[in-house]
Amino acid sequence: PPSSSSPSLRCAPSSRRPLRPRPMSSHIVGYPRIGPKRELKFALESFWDGKTGAEDLQNVAADLRRSIWKHMAGVGIKYIPSNTFSYYDQMLDTTAMLGAVPSRYGWESGEVGFDVYFSMARGNDSVPAMEMTKWFDTNYHYIVPELGPSVKFSYASHKAVEEFKEAKALGIDTVPVLIGPMTYLLLSKPAKDVDKSFCLLSLIDMILPVYKEVLTDLKSAGARWIQFDEPILVMDLDTNQLQTFSDAYSHMESSLAGMNVLIATYFADVPAEAYKALTSLKCVTGFGFDLVRGLETLDLIKVDFPRGKLLFAGVVDGRNIWANDLSASLKTLQTLEDIVGKEKVVVSTSCSLLHTAVDLLNEIKLDKELKSWLAFAAQKVVEVYALARSFSGVKDEAMFASNSMRQASRRSSPRVTNATIQHNVAAVMKSDHRRSTKVSARLQAQQKKLNLPPLPTTTIGSFPQTADLRRIRKEFKARKISEIDYVQAIKVEFEKVVKLQEELGIDVLVHGEAERNDMVEFFGEQLSGFAFTSNGWVQSYGSRCVKPPIIYGDVSRPKAMTVFWSSMAQKMTKRPMKGMLTGPVTILNWSFVRNDQPRYETCFQIALAIKDEVKDLEKAGITVIQIDEAALREGLPLRRSEQELYLDWAVHAFRITNCDVRDTTQIHTHMCYSNFNDIINSIINMDADVITIENSRSDEKLLSVFHEGVKYGAGIGPGVYDIHSPRIPSAEEIAEHINKMLAVLDSKVLWVNPDCGLKTRKYSEVKSALSNMVAAAKLIRSQL
Ligand code: GLN
Ligand code: ZN
Repeated sequence: PPSSSSPSLRCAPSSRRPLRPRPMSSHIVGYPRIGPKRELKFALESFWDGKTGAEDLQNVAADLRRSIWKHMAGVGIKYIPSNTFSYYDQMLDTTAMLGAVPSRYGWESGEVGFDVYFSMARGNDSVPAMEMTKWFDTNYHYIVPELGPSVKFSYASHKAVEEFKEAKALGIDTVPVLIGPMTYLLLSKPAKDVDKSFCLLSLIDMILPVYKEVLTDLKSAGARWIQFDEPILVMDLDTNQLQTFSDAYSHMESSLAGMNVLIATYFADVPAEAYKALTSLKCVTGFGFDLVRGLETLDLIKVDFPRGKLLFAGVVDGRNIWANDLSASLKTLQTLEDIVGKEKVVVSTSCSLLHTAVDLLNEIKLDKELKSWLAFAAQKVVEVYALARSFSGVKDEAMFASNSMRQASRRSSPRVTNATIQHNVAAVMKSDHRRSTKVSARLQAQQKKLNLPPLPTTTIGSFPQTADLRRIRKEFKARKISEIDYVQAIKVEFEKVVKLQEELGIDVLVHGEAERNDMVEFFGEQLSGFAFTSNGWVQSYGSRCVKPPIIYGDVSRPKAMTVFWSSMAQKMTKRPMKGMLTGPVTILNWSFVRNDQPRYETCFQIALAIKDEVKDLEKAGITVIQIDEAALREGLPLRRSEQELYLDWAVHAFRITNCDVRDTTQIHTHMCYSNFNDIINSIINMDADVITIENSRSDEKLLSVFHEGVKYGAGIGPGVYDIHSPRIPSAEEIAEHINKMLAVLDSKVLWVNPDCGLKTRKYSEVKSALSNMVAAAKLIRSQL
């Protein structure tokens, strides 16, 4: 790792200068920890598999941290973060720090070690993992703390101070980063057995003493700064919550004395009341704002910013891979200068760089022009520095000139704009699109054709991706094997998966997605307007990373993408074989999207392409088509005021894909989250025939949403077991799950399926788990 992980200094003003550049007023909110070539992933997985020991894992982690710190220091960043590394997740780290380990993991006291830590994250043989959910509107997942009045908090992980000391030993003075107490509590959930009246924020007085201990510890280790991440402030907090926030920080005042304090917010505008509460805090030295997404925050700053405080101006986008428009950012900084004074502005990233790719240096396959439009985390660090330096009066003219040339080339490139596509999208946006028959009538027509038993069983799409399979795809991509051999190999895999499902007795089959590396990449590669990186990985959860495609231009579908494979699979069985597509909203939300047109325009372009595919599948005789919208919810804007518009166009885009299929064609959709209480009307409005959702890691309560109030007539398959964990659920356990669901859902609409695709599991696990699932379904069927 050390050699391959040293990030690029490619754009540094003068990378060969032996001395460190003078640090400029610059700051990085956080940095990816997975490594430029996913070193941490491989180290973790090898450790989990028992192939390597804890020390090997720790060494890889230390190497990664060192190279990150050295990069930032080498570039000239003044405020370098520490404790933004994590072996799994920073929320879980905070849970460990606070000693808030749920009792089922058997921890009592002392330092929380790997065993307990990874059990909470991944479950173990006897205990399932803690729930995982999306971090704000990103594709990063955190482990949800489970809290209640009986939790005994204690200082149980010294990671923050250890990382600080580690950097210090390398000669680098860092800003330790903690998730702030408000964000921590408000992102937690009450533990299962806790009384309904329990309020998470009531725990604030119990966790602050631990925070204070951490602060004291950090201070004695020599920390002069502390960064609290409080992204929760961008949500719509009420007056009481804001009061608790103010009280909490006032309460920590004595422990904060002698330290500089930064409270970082990100991902959206800070609403006016929260802005007021935040900027009124006396104990704070600086405030961090996302000025990429937070344009209204800029207005608030203009009206009132506390004198003498530092403004950490997040002008470099941490959520995207586009090179910063340096002149535009400089202008923003100059506006701020007029308000708060030059020496009070610190140039920063809009949020942690965790959500962007690691290092453009490793992209050797991207063409030169496209590459010149991009910046990954390592390059964004350089941009932050360059902006800080110009802002201080030493403008790197050459770098700015080259940057504006690259911005202009992107704006005018014919690769980006296609008049026909723009025209088609403009037309589609003018009217609504919806299937002409009601869902109940469609389901009847479909049942006549499909003749499925009650509680039909199905899976979400993918089957285990074996090393062999990955190798075959790779070899084909590298043209090391012929197309004929490739198709043959995939066909054999399909046959295996079909046979397995028939043996297991599953009712609606899938082909297993052996031909796909990834549910978005597979489509993006066949659509125009997409580009792919070799190493543009972004952490999704734990060791899992995704490599989002880059949508740089107008999107269209030159030819059918899945018809060949789906027809091949359908021919192998008499049972219905689901066509398997990724929906437009998910393709959008799991890509790096262009920032030169509204997101919805790009989304409608993709919708039209998927619509053509749906039509072609139907023509080829595929009667059940699943259009995954796994990521619909995560695109939901954080601020309530913006949500309706998003849901409107997102749901519309989904409906466009299937609005004119026959009644007998059954449209499924799948969603990877359980938290949809607030968007239930939109989900119904998608008008799918069957919807499968993640559920097993949460509880049955959420299903009442479907039951109560809304007569959702379509089929619904809440996952009956958790595919994120290697644990195999017994048939009894699954049957119990199904029974609980039947308490709130009509047996006529209930489907039985796992909660997501099986691609990350091993065949041994899948066979047992599915066999138990089918047994459970059959058992309950017999009792209906
Ligand atoms: N069809 C996909 C699969 O099974 C869905 C994955 C997902 O929802 N993330 O892999
Ligand atoms: Zn899923």
